[in-house]
Formats: sequence, structure tokens, C-alpha cells
Amino acid sequence: MTGANWRIDHQCPQCGGPITLEETDRFFTCDYCRVRLHITSEGPFRYRLSPKQDLSELFHVPYWRFKGTAFAVAGTKIQHCLLDHTRIALSLRTLPFSLGVRPQALPLRFAAGDVSGGFTNPVLPLADVISGMEKQFEGLGVEAFSSDSPVKAYVGETASIIYAPFQIKGQTLQDAITPGRSYPMPPSLEELILSRNGDKSWSPQFLPALCPYCGWDLNGERDSCVFICNNCGRAWTPAPDGFKPVRLGAVPALNADATYIPFWRIKPVAHGIQLESYADLVRTANLPRVVQPQWESSPLAFWMPAFKITPQFFLRLGGLFTISPPEPIVYDDVKPRTLYPVTLPLVEAAKGLKLFFASLTVTKRHVVERLPHITIAPAESELILIPFVCRGNEFIYREHHVAIQKAALSHGRNF
Ligand SMILES: [Zn+2]
Ligand SMILES: [Zn+2]
Repeated sequence: MTGANWRIDHQCPQCGGPITLEETDRFFTCDYCRVRLHITSEGPFRYRLSPKQDLSELFHVPYWRFKGTAFAVAGTKIQHCLLDHTRIALSLRTLPFSLGVRPQALPLRFAAGDVSGGFTNPVLPLADVISGMEKQFEGLGVEAFSSDSPVKAYVGETASIIYAPFQIKGQTLQDAITPGRSYPMPPSLEELILSRNGDKSWSPQFLPALCPYCGWDLNGERDSCVFICNNCGRAWTPAPDGFKPVRLGAVPALNADATYIPFWRIKPVAHGIQLESYADLVRTANLPRVVQPQWESSPLAFWMPAFKITPQFFLRLGGLFTISPPEPIVYDDVKPRTLYPVTLPLVEAAKGLKLFFASLTVTKRHVVERLPHITIAPAESELILIPFVCRGNEFIYREHHVAIQKAALSHGRNF
């Protein structure tokens, strides 16, 4: 595990100029023609390792690439572990089961357009590949994968497919990236090639980054997954069929220099436990507070960081704002001057809801015992911007005495 990001060589769809993307890039401005586009795809992004020279009779073997943080409740603690692995997505035991470190050393291209050779869809679903990895780590004694954990979650994951090219030569498959490695021809290969997907319907889409409501340019950073329109104040998240609106609010800033840091505010729907009001949370988690009568009717919301950050900070920050929600929240005319980018999509944050609840209650044995029978899903969600002030190496939210170290932000973003 190196945590390195890959480079993807591509051409600007408008002017054809060469561009280099990182795998987390979802927004780019062309250096040549200045077009501003966002990048989306139906299903996982698919990339291809390029052979050094043009070869004929290529067959591309799909590998799942999975990167994310695994969290698990273990005893009275939350364990976590960073994963960054590739695994073959076909049941072909004669071929290498992983790509090793090669994708980090070599530039990738999108497996799109007129790339020649046979392609096949992955046969093994990602879920099977991940559970195989879990068993392997469990066997190695990694605590985040212990089989008796009542709650496990993967948060902030990137799952993509990398095609590795092999040249078909007689009865062997020869590695087209590393010469000299060859493998016996698998008996089912012909069938797989017959199912080749000639039109590559999975190709990524590059769409104009314009506000669907007012047509204004949307602003974002290269890894942003929510864009805010500076003209009408609406927020949008990319979806395969265009932008979807995101409900946006903010805690007003007293300081004009504030940096707004985004959080997902998610109202949960829970089964197996009473978790509707803030008072329910105070009682269940046994928070050191006296329940006020108005808390009985105040709906519970979990506050989860909407950005990638180290696992400890992810749970700690979310916990702080869930226990003490910042107030007031305004919904009109939200046009932050300085915004820290949203880099963790809502679906990713929501995957951690139950784990997050467990982190608030993990020392309460009576709750931990019930965790296997509890489900928590998102009901309503919105993006709330909280004003922090930049001081030295930290961002500080004075009202709650909360500090976020910049190093924890950059570590989370670059992993
Ligand atoms: Zn261009
Ligand atoms: Zn707009």
C-alpha cells in the first residue's frame, strides 16, 4: 500500500490537447482552450495499461482496483485500515491475481474509443473480490477484519477496473507490459473474447460544467464531487445523466475570511433501535447531558465530514458536530467565498452511518450487543457549510473549540 494516485493520459475532448488526469479528478480546465468540463461515467471508471509498442491480437484482462478505508467495531474500539489493492476480475487461476505496483508506475488511458484488442466485462463481482480480501486479512490477524466484529464499513472507496493487455501467441498469453512473462492459455478464453464489448459503452463522459439552473460556470477543484454556482447559489452533484441538485445550507460566518468546510447532515431512519430525536441519541449513547424537553421533538441528524480525511478525524469531527450541532443554519443565498472542496460523496459518507453511530456508543456494552440487529439508512440529507478560521497549521471553529489539522486534510485527500 503506497497510497499513490495514478496518472491518466487523455486528450481534451474539445481541442485535442494532451491532458494528464489523476484518478480522483472529476473536474478539469483545459490549459489550451480553457474549456471547463466535469467527468462522469456510468458504473466504475475503466482504464487500460498501455503496451509500450503496438501489438496485434491483444486480450485485455480486467482487474478490480479497490481503494478505501475499512472500519470495524472491535471490542470497545473502532479499528481502521487503509486498503489499496488490485485483484483479477475473472476466474482464471493461471493468470496473476493482482497487478502489483505496476499501475502506479505506468500511465493509464481510459479503456475507451478505438483502443484495439478484445475486452471483456468483469466476471467476478466487486463484492466477492472484497470478501476474498477480507478473509485473507482475517487470516493475517488484521483487527479491522476480525470475523466477530458486529459492524464493518468501507468509506470513501474508489472502485475502478484496470485492463491489463496480454498478447495471444499460440497456446500462451504473453504479458504485453512486462516482456518475458507468459501464461498457459486458459480454456475459457475464446468464450470470453466472444463476449467482447466492441462499443465500450462504459466510456467516460466529459460534460460542460455549467449550472443547470442559470447556465453560469460552476466552480470546483479537480477532485470536487459537489459544485456550487456562484451566481444562483445552488449546489449540484454529477450523476450519469447530468447534474442532480443538492440541498445546501450554511452556518453564517462572523469573520469575512472564513473558509467554509462542508459536512453532510443526514437524518437517519433506524430499525432495531429508537433513534428519531436528539433526545434518543443522548439517552442511547449516554451522553453527559440532561435531556431538555424540546430535544424530544428535535429530529436527530448525523453530521459526517463531506471530505476525505484521516479515519480518526472522520469519526471525531462527525461525532463532535452530531453531539453539538452548530446553529443557526441558513439556506438562502449561500455563496461561500472560500470553500474547502467536497471530496466525499454523500453515498460514501452514508455507508458509514451505522459505524459512526457505533463510534458514539462503543463503550456502552448494551448497545454494542444490539448492533448486529440495528440498521441505519439515510432518509434526508443536505450539505451544510461550517465557517472555520485558518490559523497556522489548523482550521478552527471557535464556537465549538474544534480544530482540524491541515496535515490530516491533505493526508486524507492524497491517499
Ligand atoms: Zn482543450
Ligand atoms: Zn446557477
